[in-house]
Parts: sequence; C-alpha cells; structure tokens
Amino acid sequence: MKNEIVLRLLPSDAANDATLKGFLAKELKVSEAKITGFYVRRRSIDARKHPVMVQLHVITWIDEPASPEIVVDFEYPQVSAAREVIVVGAGPGGLFAALRLIELGIKPIVIERGKPVGERKKDVALLNRNHPVNPESNYAFGEGGAGTFSDGKLYTRSTKRGDFRRFLEVLYFHGASEEILVDAHPHVGTDRLPAIMKNIRETIIQAGGEVHFNTRVDDFIIEGDAVKGIDIAGGERINGEAVILATGHSARDMYELLHRKDIQLEAKTWAMGVRVEHPQDLIDQIQYHNPEGRGDYLPAASYNFSCQVQGRGVYSFCMCPGGIIVPAMTGPGEMVVNGMSASGRNSPFANSGMVVEIHPEDLPGHQQYGALAGLVFQKEVEQLCYINGGKNVIAPGQVLTDFVNGRLSGDLPPTSYIPGALASPLHFILPELISNRLREGFKMFGKWAKGFLTDEAVVLGTESRTSSPVRIPRDPETLQHVQLKGLYPCGEGAGYAGGIASSALDGERCAVMVAQALGVYRE
Ligand code: FAD
Repeated sequence: MKNEIVLRLLPSDAANDATLKGFLAKELKVSEAKITGFYVRRRSIDARKHPVMVQLHVITWIDEPASPEIVVDFEYPQVSAAREVIVVGAGPGGLFAALRLIELGIKPIVIERGKPVGERKKDVALLNRNHPVNPESNYAFGEGGAGTFSDGKLYTRSTKRGDFRRFLEVLYFHGASEEILVDAHPHVGTDRLPAIMKNIRETIIQAGGEVHFNTRVDDFIIEGDAVKGIDIAGGERINGEAVILATGHSARDMYELLHRKDIQLEAKTWAMGVRVEHPQDLIDQIQYHNPEGRGDYLPAASYNFSCQVQGRGVYSFCMCPGGIIVPAMTGPGEMVVNGMSASGRNSPFANSGMVVEIHPEDLPGHQQYGALAGLVFQKEVEQLCYINGGKNVIAPGQVLTDFVNGRLSGDLPPTSYIPGALASPLHFILPELISNRLREGFKMFGKWAKGFLTDEAVVLGTESRTSSPVRIPRDPETLQHVQLKGLYPCGEGAGYAGGIASSALDGERCAVMVAQALGVYRE
C-alpha cells in the first residue's frame, strides 16, 4: 500500500532516516518492519517561531515493493530548416523558448552575444581579480544569461505564468539535483548551473537547432510592419519566420537601438539600492530564534523584508544565504553588484539586495529621455558608484549602521566581495529618493529582526539591475510587439518577467504563441 504522510518534526528528527521511519510507523500505526520504502516528496521549513519545525510530505510503501517516484522524460524531436525562428539571447527566456519551439516542431536559431559557459567562466574570474569588465562576456552576458552565475533561486510569484513544475522538471532532466523538485524554496547553485546550461545547449543542437555564440544582434530586418530577421554585428543577415527577443535587462544597446528606430518602448517601475551583507551566523541566529545558530540540518537562513517608505516599496531582493557578492556590471565606468551562492550555500556570509521602488514620475529631471529615463538614471547612479569606488570593480562600501546614521565609515567589516570595497559615504552618494528611503527601511527591518542593524554588516553600491526600467510593449493576446508583427519581446528585458523561473516560463509562452501564429500549433 502506498501512502502520503505529512509530518511536522524538529530538525534533529527530520535529519535522520532511522528516526524518520520511526515517526512514519507511529503515524501509520504499523511496525517499522512493514515499511518497505519511503521518500520525501516535499520539504518546507517553518521558522516563524521557536522552535523551528520542518514539514515533510513523505510517500511510504507498506508491504509492497517501493517504486521510484520521479520519472521525468522529455522528448525533443528532430527539427528541420522548413520552419526557422530566431531567438535572440541564451538566457533562461531564450533557452526555454528554444526548447519549447523544438517540442512544437520548429527549428530555433539561438543568437548569443556572449561566450559559451566554459569560456565565460574565465572572464568572470578575471573580473573577480579586478580586471576591467568585458562588455560581451560577464555576469549578465553569455550562455545561460544572467542566471548562470547566480544563486539559482527558482520561484515565481504568479502561477499564471505557466507550468512551474514542468519548468523544474526540464532543469532536472538537464542535470539539476532532485532537491529542486522537493524543496519548497528550491535553488540550484552556481556550481551546478553552468553544466545545466551546457546540457540545454546540447539538447537544442542534437535536435537540429542552432546556437551561435560571440554573435551580437545589431539591427532588425523590417519589411512594412513586420520583422523578417536580424542583422549581426560584422554584416551577416539572418532571416526567420519570427524573432523572439530575450536580451535581458542589461542590453542597453538593444533598448537604444529600438528607441532610435522609433520602435515603441515604455518607461516602467523598477527598483534599485544597495547590497547588504551580514555574517551568515548572525542571520541564522536571528531567523532561527536560536543563539546557537542553525545546527547541522537546517539550511543557511534567508530573510525577506519589505515595507513602505514615503509611498514607495523598500524591500530585500534576491537574498543569497551562504553566498558571495559579485561584480555584475556590463560596461566600463559602471559599478553594479549582485549576489550568488553555491548549491551548499556554505560561505560565511549572507547578502541581499535592499532596494527602493522607482516609478517613472519619480524622475522629473529625466523626462527628456522619454521611455529611456529610468535607464539613464540607472546608468548615472552606476557611474557615481564607480567614481566613488576603487579602480576597476572595487565597490564603494559603508558600514550598515553608518549608512543608516549618515556617518562616514573608517574600516569596513570583512566582506565576501572578492575584488574588495572602499569606504565611501553611500548615504550621500546615492540619490536621496533611494538613500533616504533605504535608511528608513533599514531602521524598520532592524526593529523587526533584532540584531539586523549591526556594525558587523556592510552595504555595497549599487544594486541597480533588479529588473528593467524599460518595457518593450507587446499585445497581451499574441505576445507580438504592439507595432511590429513577428517580433516577440520576451523575458526580463522586455519587462514581462523578473527572475530565472518567470523568464523561462515567458520564453515558453512566446514559443507557443509563435507556433500558433505560424499555424503549427493550437492550444
Ligand atoms: P538574461 O538572463 O539577461 O539573458 C539575456 C541574454 O541575451 C544574455 O545572455 C545576453 O548576453 C544576450 N544578449 C543581450 N543582447 C544581445 C544582443 N544584442 N545579441 C545577442 N545576444 C544578446 N534570478 C532568480 O530567479 N534567482 C536567482 O537566484 C538570481 N540570481 C541572480 C544573480 C546574479 C548575479 C544576476 C546577475 C542575476 C540573478 N537573477 C536571479 C536574475 C536572473 O538571472 C534573470 O532574471 C534572468 O536571467 C533573466 O532571464 P532572461 O532570459 O530574460 O535574460
């Protein structure tokens, strides 16, 4: 007989299979000998109060052979040149669009300005040794897009975006660990993501698709009101029946190209601020309500704060427990930080973006830039932080309590940011609409989480690439650009997603809509 049992256990009980079996036997009112096998289908942690509890959904078999539960198999049929669609960008949006196109019998031609992930790793390593940024190969550009060197948190706020379980299964099929199918808050880790991205590329190529690296789209072939293909830097032209544009939020040259060509764009709300870093032990103590920290079973603790200050959201963003801060700029003269973690989340630091929501109307001095107002503002703040940091990618930093109290910092606490940080008055450097709200927000978070506001924590500037300040508007039904047929703005850069999961799901949706428009598929 097969059963699903929900157990709420202390971490020490959940950690041990023998103890777990004892609890299952008790719950099922059978002897342990009768349980022929069990596995944890879903795991979540309830850290709202002391003691922290672990909730497990466990499948058990009694008196019958246990059978493996996780059967994930995807078929990627051979596609031919009869139907070709161009996918610009090999981030989660572009790669998942390409996989879905193949499933629908359409050949994707993936065009990526950056390098394959193996070569890209070397550029990222150079950045961490404080070399100048390579504008074509960095933490945002290259195979796997911005999600490759990341924490690989996989969540989406809206289930309307698509089949989230299927998205996890595609990642699992391409090499992610089984844990992502089990954990309530799954994450992959930067040590595993590159191999998964490479496996996805191999699936695309084996099915007959194409993936071109070191190839930047510099223009579109437009006939009348329709896009017919792309122009590549260097002169080559490629035609396709449609173009899925998944270039991410850091491809400023793409927004500028569209703007120059009078292709409609819109300013949108986004957020920017700083990245804050604490010792992970301290966050464990705070979040698990235990001065002794997390113990052996519990994962590095995370947090999620948000509040309103002067009518704008202030919130933690992309928290990386047991992670490191990384230089995430894409061009010279910019200072941008972000965070990533390995699968074990085992660094001694906990970092998170702390950002302030910015609406287009918050930037009256930038209205002459029209739809690009937010982009120009974002760039100016990045340049200010660059000037106030050290050479190349050394970040401006400030002790958290000094930032909040408007004081200069002397020495900075230790940080995971490998290139290093230089003490700078970020409270003063950052525009007031960000700095003042952030300081109030930190005070509030410090009240909610005693110990959070500490001089052991440091803030680095600037966390600016949270999402795109620009939208490439599309028809909600067809997902084609409002002006141009055959152009499918996709993922985070188009303003329709935020994060790996939602960008990937948006990629799948765009692929389905392309197939429908080509008459290949009906839902
Ligand atoms: P992107 O991933 O940005 O991909 C766009 C691709 O297009 C890039 O590879 C780029 O090189 C290419 N491109 C751009 N312009 C051109 C052109 N003209 N021609 C050809 N190619 C072009 N999200 C999460 O959900 N969880 C996390 O834990 C997480 N951590 C992150 C950590 C870091 C350090 C960073 C930088 C981001 C993180 N994110 C995380 C955000 C996440 O990576 C993005 O939301 C996601 O990658 C967006 O997917 P996308 O496909 O829309 O765009």
